[in-house]
Amino acid sequence: RQDNVPQAPEDPLFGLMAAYRRDEFEKKVDLGIGAYRDNNAKPWVLPVVKSADDVLRKDPNLNHEYLPIAGLADFTTAAQRLILGADSPAIKEKRATSFQTISGTGAVHLGALFLSRFYPRSSNQAVYFSSPTWANHNQIFSNVHLPIRTYPYFSAQTKGLDFQGMKSTISDAPEGSIILLHACAHNPTGVDPTRDQWKEISEVIRAKKHFPFFDCAYQGFASGDLQNDAWAVQYFVSQGFEMCIAQSFAKNFGLYGERAGAFHFVTGPSPDAQDTVGRVASQLAILQRSEISNPPAYGARIASLVLNDPALFKEWEANLRTMAGRIIDMRKELRSNLEQLNGKEGSWKHITDQIGMFSFTGMTEPQVLQIRKDAHVYMTKNGRMSMAGLNTSNVEYVAKAMDKVVRE
Ligand code: PMP
Repeated sequence: RQDNVPQAPEDPLFGLMAAYRRDEFEKKVDLGIGAYRDNNAKPWVLPVVKSADDVLRKDPNLNHEYLPIAGLADFTTAAQRLILGADSPAIKEKRATSFQTISGTGAVHLGALFLSRFYPRSSNQAVYFSSPTWANHNQIFSNVHLPIRTYPYFSAQTKGLDFQGMKSTISDAPEGSIILLHACAHNPTGVDPTRDQWKEISEVIRAKKHFPFFDCAYQGFASGDLQNDAWAVQYFVSQGFEMCIAQSFAKNFGLYGERAGAFHFVTGPSPDAQDTVGRVASQLAILQRSEISNPPAYGARIASLVLNDPALFKEWEANLRTMAGRIIDMRKELRSNLEQLNGKEGSWKHITDQIGMFSFTGMTEPQVLQIRKDAHVYMTKNGRMSMAGLNTSNVEYVAKAMDKVVRE
């Protein structure tokens, strides 16, 4: 009998979702979940995904065989082109290897597991996360027994980036540390470095021989422009870093439950680069085989069709602009409503400065609990709100409720 298994706490986000579902208040608002909602607060199946689905269903040769260990090759090569750029030197020089994974979570995990086995470490090296970061980063890296530390990221004063704090901690980290970076639309803060700041970060990482690990869960979803959102990753590749990239297609294709993602390992230019990626790929195959044997097919087939067909790709870009555009509009609406209510222009500027799915509002835990109780508006305790939960019918209601709790 397993008498010694302690009760684990409920996952905070999934607990919040359950509380929201139980709430019978008519005007309740869900700003917790990190999934896109349309202007009627409903999940949105991207029209391009419907088109691809129609094509797939009509294919008489479609079957349910296993995919290869590394996944669907048409998908992983297209995913690689998307994140690295079609003209990437890493692709031309065959310095990248890519594995299809269980969405972004699986990609982060495969990378973490690989590094836990093969990354040469001295006793005081660790993986550095931004503070705060996506909560699952901690669990995923702890599960593979990599030591974890943090670098400052969010400034409570400016509600923007604590750039000096970030840079100096990365600079003081023991040489050869692993530095986890959000490629764009940082979760949970919505705060990204500028291009000049990314350049400085890359210089510090190079000077300390650190190893960058990019987590990219929002390409195209953040700004509506796929290449713009991949800029930081492509810049680091152009600088010749050896690095890992975790890529999720959950948000940008709305394929949340289909678990489509990819893990990429890129090595720097050198005469034996191809040999290096060959050896890395051989080990990734063994790790993948023992964990999931081979990845799920459906989501990858949909994404692959779209990524490899110029007309569908164009349609996808339009769908991305629809999602990103609606979220950017909601940011503007929320800010202007809040500033009208308190009469202080610029007081909620951070809402429109931040980007992507989330905004770190600056609301405290007591305020978050208060707004949940008074107005049935649900957000995580750290004051993070999912912008996709706002729409033209509820933005004013939410602004009034926020204005009220922050004044009290
Ligand atoms: N990384 C970050 C930073 C994320 O925000 C997410 C999505 N919440 C993921 C990875 C992975 O999500 P998924 O496994 O659904 O692709």
